Amino acid sequence: MISIPIAQPFIGDEEISAVREVLTSGRLTMGPNLDAFEEEFASFTGSEYAIAVNSGTSALICSLMAASVKGDIITTPFTFISSASSILFTHCRPVFVDIDDDYNINEEKIAESITDTTVALLPVHLYGNPCDARLLSDLAEDHDLVLIEDACQAHGAEIDGQKVGTFGIGCFSFYPTKNMTTAEGGMITTSDADIAEKIRLLRNVGQGSAYEYRALGYNLRMTELSAAIGRIQLKRLDEFNRIRIQNAGYLSERLQPVEGIEVPRVGKGKKHVFHQYTVRVTDSFPLERDELQKALMDRGIGCRVYYPEPLHHLPMFSSFTHTDLTQSEKASAQVLSLPIHPGVSRDQLEYIATCIGDLS
Ligand SMILES: *Cc1c(COP(=O)(O)O)cnc(C)c1O
Repeated sequence: MISIPIAQPFIGDEEISAVREVLTSGRLTMGPNLDAFEEEFASFTGSEYAIAVNSGTSALICSLMAASVKGDIITTPFTFISSASSILFTHCRPVFVDIDDDYNINEEKIAESITDTTVALLPVHLYGNPCDARLLSDLAEDHDLVLIEDACQAHGAEIDGQKVGTFGIGCFSFYPTKNMTTAEGGMITTSDADIAEKIRLLRNVGQGSAYEYRALGYNLRMTELSAAIGRIQLKRLDEFNRIRIQNAGYLSERLQPVEGIEVPRVGKGKKHVFHQYTVRVTDSFPLERDELQKALMDRGIGCRVYYPEPLHHLPMFSSFTHTDLTQSEKASAQVLSLPIHPGVSRDQLEYIATCIGDLS
């Protein structure tokens, strides 16, 4: 029996009445909630435009298509499948570059991996921890590359006060486990009017005004139900993130002294929003990572491994050459994420820390 789940969406009365209002209004898609949600999300991030779609995966695919890139795209193998499958969908080639101590892509290794056929960089702000997007945006500018940020885990994360998703084209997910949800949903942020326009066409069957088809497009629209939920979740996001950061701080304080457990590091000037709270279980811990996970699960703690296999091991990526990816492979064998979402109480955090201490 798991009594502390690894993730738990918070849906309150306001979300429920907003959905009821949409249902009774009769306007179920492409209505006032969508327009308002996009405007509010753009203003929250500080980007010029925000375009809502039906998932984070769609956000990534649309961004790559709208950027019209063809060639090699540098990304990390230590991430969720969509960061790299979106590259295959758009007929580009993924070039995997290894990660750093903070689990994000290593900027120095990116610089070494850029060639004449590189067209874009697709870093991920993994676990809600911003990667060095400012450096990457400079690098992209110097080499004339498109920068696409996979911010699907990093709503509200910042570097020196600037929100992620504004350094390049930002892709967000509102899947139920994320820092805010719309059930299913996604958002693209950009300050490029041309990219925004292309994404609007791609998401809505290429349609400008009614039956005026200006491009080839999919149907990737977000419903009014989702947009209505998203507007309320966005209002709650800062508070959700504040509790995540506080819970993470508490666990780190308790786990820091435990031999063989490495707590997450947050770089200077960065606001990490802890989509996941991930520790590294090193050789000096008496249990293997998988044994620790099992022991904690047996004690009712829903801990998970994100991600048990780096993407370059998957058959769909086997034909692509890549650089040395030792750190990603090592992380896959050592990481363990512990529950710190806003529904986890202080007593539960205390219990998690005590269990780990007892097993050490
Ligand atoms: C969740 C996630 C996605 C995909 O989002 P969906 O809404 O599930 O399609 C992409 N990249 C990362 C890093 C994610 O965590």
